[in-house]
Amino acid sequence: MLLLPSSRIRTRFSRITQCTNLTLRCTHTTHRSPSPASLLASASKHKPARMAATATPDLPILPPEDSHLTAKFGRETANYFSGSPLNRLSFLRIDHAFLAPAFKHPSASFLLLDNLAPLVETDDATQLAFVSLGDIVDKVGGNVFEKTEEELIKEFNSEDSEKIVVFFGMDEKEVLSGHGGSEEKFKYKEFEGVPYFAVDVSKWENKEQLKAKLEKERKASFFGGGPRHMGLVAGQAAMYGYARALIDWNARTPFCAQCGQRTLSVNAGTKRVCPPTDKGEEREPCATRGTVSNHSFPRTDPTVIMAIVSADGSKVLLGRQRRWPKYWYSTLAGFQEPGESIEEAVRREVWEESGVQVGRVVLHSSQPWPFPASLMIGAVGQALPGEGEKIYLGHDAELESAKWFPLDEVKEALAKGTHNMGEETPKEYVEGALRLPPQTAIANRLINSVVEGWWIASKM
Ligand SMILES: [Zn+2]
Repeated sequence: MLLLPSSRIRTRFSRITQCTNLTLRCTHTTHRSPSPASLLASASKHKPARMAATATPDLPILPPEDSHLTAKFGRETANYFSGSPLNRLSFLRIDHAFLAPAFKHPSASFLLLDNLAPLVETDDATQLAFVSLGDIVDKVGGNVFEKTEEELIKEFNSEDSEKIVVFFGMDEKEVLSGHGGSEEKFKYKEFEGVPYFAVDVSKWENKEQLKAKLEKERKASFFGGGPRHMGLVAGQAAMYGYARALIDWNARTPFCAQCGQRTLSVNAGTKRVCPPTDKGEEREPCATRGTVSNHSFPRTDPTVIMAIVSADGSKVLLGRQRRWPKYWYSTLAGFQEPGESIEEAVRREVWEESGVQVGRVVLHSSQPWPFPASLMIGAVGQALPGEGEKIYLGHDAELESAKWFPLDEVKEALAKGTHNMGEETPKEYVEGALRLPPQTAIANRLINSVVEGWWIASKM
């Protein structure tokens, strides 16, 4: 992750960041937004919040509300990679009467990804950089949505190189500044805003020329840290995660999972179909063209991740893998398997990896994790007393160590020892002390909640 010098951190965001770091119960009135798309609003308009003093990006901030559910269960937790400011308008992805004019509207803004690395502002990699159609028209063409899906399927030629363009959604509240070239909003039926698209440039020829042009004219360059950008501001991280997951899925799924023939990207990049003909000639039959049609949608892999507290509530169970940095621990996690509930997956994974037996399990929050397509389902569980708390690593070789950590020690680590793998420890860290993942990881949020007593009583 990019580390920013403190001089570039805007002080006006420091209070907000402090709030989110602690409890995610921020109630700043400036974050109110009635739009469903902006329910998880980022910290500001046009230029969302810069990185915190710890160089850890801010988190999405929920608007204040006082529902019965919040009264009973406490405030919802919004995790990093959630909180996109856009209205996805998923029902319009098949409507080319909407997509075609949206694509060529002067306000239309495009995020480019090169081998999954996003285009960012050259002097501030916490901000995505958007371009106009004019910047890329010679490569992407005048309008990829001009023809209807029916026409594209009918004209399918498996030898054509595919242009992957994903419709992100519309920015109805002007949260983002787009490509900065048009004040005019795009209107369609009752919807009005700036349309956003993501474009995969990985296979474009003469990319160096494009890069030089973007650098000069847009002050934008592809994120140099590779395809796992974890330093974007809240909201924009969600947009990047969405674009990344869909572009990756389209690029890695060129063939039909049912019959093995080439597929075609439709629904503005969110579905792939197995056309019945290729260059006008009939292809082998395929079940996805009939009733079994669910093979052609992007996958999301559910993963359970859990903070397990001891039976008396004084300790939390953490584990570490051999390849992790010294003293660096995290919550246990594993893939959700078919035929089990989330609660059962939590109990199974914890027992398999650590030998600890878990009783009651409560869902906490979830996090999209686009590396490549996981959904982290966060839970808090309580170990059974006595023998139930006994650690045994003999079932599964995944963990090098699992331990019960007293909450005081964990609290200290949350304050002084959180960082991404591959990063240096914070200045306050004392060698030999526990290290934990940063707040961009749901593991950190789960551990933080346990330390705060989230699992004991709901809070308002
Ligand atoms: Zn097929």
